[in-house]
Amino acid sequence: MIESNYPHLLAPLDLGFTTLKNRVLMGSMHTGLEDGNQHDRLIAYFVERARGDVGLIITGGYAPNRAGWVKPFAGKLTTRSEAAKHRRITNAVHAEDGKIAMQILHAGRYAYHPLPVAPSRIRSPITPFTPRELSSAGVENQIEAFVRCAKLAREAGYDGVEIMGSEGYFINEFLVTHTNQRTDEWGGDFSQRMRLPVEIVARTREAVGDDFIIIYRLSMIDLIPDGNSWNETVMLAKAIEGAGATIINTGIGWHEARVPTIATSVPRGAFTWVTKKMKREVTIPLVTSNRINLPATAEQILSDGCADMVSLARPMLADAEFVKKAREGRADEINVCIACNQACLDHTFSNKMSSCLVNPRACHETELNYVATKTRKTFAVVGSGPAGLSAALVLAERGHEVDLYEGAAEIGGQLNMAKVIPGKEEFHEMLRYFKRQLELKQVRVHLSTRIVADDLIAKAHDGVIVATGVVPRDPEIDGQDHPKVLSYIDVLRGRAAVGKRVAIIGAGGIGFDVAEFLVHDGHSPTMDLDEWLAEWGVVDPAEARGGIARERSRPEASAREVTLLQRKAGKHGANLGKTTGWIHRATLKMNNVQMIGNVRYERISDEGLLISYGKNHEQPTWLDVDNVVLCAGQLPQRELQAPLESAGMPTHVIGGADVATELDAKRAIDQGSRLAARL
Ligand code: NAP
Ligand code: SF4
Repeated sequence: MIESNYPHLLAPLDLGFTTLKNRVLMGSMHTGLEDGNQHDRLIAYFVERARGDVGLIITGGYAPNRAGWVKPFAGKLTTRSEAAKHRRITNAVHAEDGKIAMQILHAGRYAYHPLPVAPSRIRSPITPFTPRELSSAGVENQIEAFVRCAKLAREAGYDGVEIMGSEGYFINEFLVTHTNQRTDEWGGDFSQRMRLPVEIVARTREAVGDDFIIIYRLSMIDLIPDGNSWNETVMLAKAIEGAGATIINTGIGWHEARVPTIATSVPRGAFTWVTKKMKREVTIPLVTSNRINLPATAEQILSDGCADMVSLARPMLADAEFVKKAREGRADEINVCIACNQACLDHTFSNKMSSCLVNPRACHETELNYVATKTRKTFAVVGSGPAGLSAALVLAERGHEVDLYEGAAEIGGQLNMAKVIPGKEEFHEMLRYFKRQLELKQVRVHLSTRIVADDLIAKAHDGVIVATGVVPRDPEIDGQDHPKVLSYIDVLRGRAAVGKRVAIIGAGGIGFDVAEFLVHDGHSPTMDLDEWLAEWGVVDPAEARGGIARERSRPEASAREVTLLQRKAGKHGANLGKTTGWIHRATLKMNNVQMIGNVRYERISDEGLLISYGKNHEQPTWLDVDNVVLCAGQLPQRELQAPLESAGMPTHVIGGADVATELDAKRAIDQGSRLAARL
């Protein structure tokens, strides 16, 4: 029987007054659709996930008052007229036999507006605004705001609320001395500091009645110095249970923590052990979270007794049908979240609407649809990188006939280089997904076929999509034909032996990737949880407050001495992802990679690489290196375009072949999918 593949994941959860149909909670994500008047888009987004069979949807955070706004005019629920608008959301989800709870999020000192409030007047390291310290009466007002918001959520038809008590937001700020230095009844020892969340939960329960889900998201490991001790966290969890919460969800790390918690280099299920520790302490259901992106991983976590439910947030952007596909024995068809953050969190933190790198329809369900064509046409897609693959699949899904030509013996283009970088193993899943979909959608794949324009013209397709990608830019450095010079392709494809001392020319995404590849020499801490935790200084919170080691163990000596160079002055990797660039920089620093900027490349010879500094070529210095690896950016490769257009062939150029600058898989997939949706 198919369902026996995931018996724990697909088992219903009886909460007494209501039953969730399975153990998958769609974790709260701020997508941008919560703000302003975008209810139709929000409804379409939730409805697809409810149809996909998720057990319980949690909305993005809604503020209980203006002070609690994440940013000016962010979503809030403070009035009955706002509640009436939410009614459309809850009705739509219920019509699909789904369940939905609303998250109440008070940003506290993380608010990105000039009037934040907090327990003490201490600015956060990640926001520019110093909060106002609340008076005792002010604290009471905030509690009342939570209670009123929960009542309104019930009036709006929600099945419950999630009270956001983790990630360093308002409630969390009361719990630790790091942010709470009050001397009144809301500060002092832990029993006083935890009064706020306990009062919020108890008073909310009283106001909403017994038959309404209250989830409390509890910071199980703060990952900040002076965070809560394990005893304190347990004390809080027991008190929250006693105050009437239905479920406790797991929060991992404050936003200001200097430990990655959800990025792609974080091992899968890296923090489920923390929830498992709590399982011994409370009796209400626990949800575990972070880097759970496959049904098999989720099933393992649940069968190991780590939790009663799993929270999947970003995987629900990647594939609305995650649960349905798992249930129907189609797990190999799931579009897997690769934890890149590029189209979700990076967008949120840049004030842009969220989407998903692997699924550009996410949060765009009302405007990007792959509608069946009325006129079946034939298309040739040349190049099977992310742009070509996406175009081919969407064309085929719409009912067109597609031939996909690839010069190499495997599909994937640059994805095949990404997948060998330590910490980027999730790219294997992306390739697996593409391969399976090509089969399912019956795209005719021609590997090892470097098709030329004349052949394409002779085949007389109705259109050609040129997705032939990029070629490395020639940096034109004196001596670059020296045998010690390698291209990043030689290195990442394993075509060249690389020495112990290496200089990398270019510190963009690929320069960083090559540096990580070389210092780890094929070994990936992401594949070894204990090693990864040690590398980032994470310990059992029973050993040290916040789960942060007092002293960090140094990683094993790097395999190589690497110097990463760029011509511009300023921070290396400034254009890497907003939420992940710091992780790449920190990883390279831990591995002693030298980062040198403002350089000029003078010459390469037997002696190594001669660099100088600044416009005036000062301080000429030899870097005594065995190899120089060129990662100097890319140029479009699109020689097919001109002959095809001259022959009158409808031709479309996408991906790196269109614009190579700042190319990434996000733009490639989005462009390929959108073009194919129109043709
Ligand atoms: P890139 O990000 O544009 O970086 C190119 C690097 O080469 C820059 O550091 C640039 O710095 C240098 N450069 C440019 N022209 C040069 C020249 N004539 N001589 C010497 N150096 C030169 O390109 P990329 O690294 O090839 O990456 C391509 C794309 O893939 C990126 O846009 C990125 O988004 C994506 N990607 C991202 C990641 C990631 O996020 N981790 C990983 C891989 C790829 P100076 O001009 O200062 O020297
Ligand atoms: Fe996951 Fe990346 Fe999509 Fe975000 S953008 S949901 S991290 S695949």
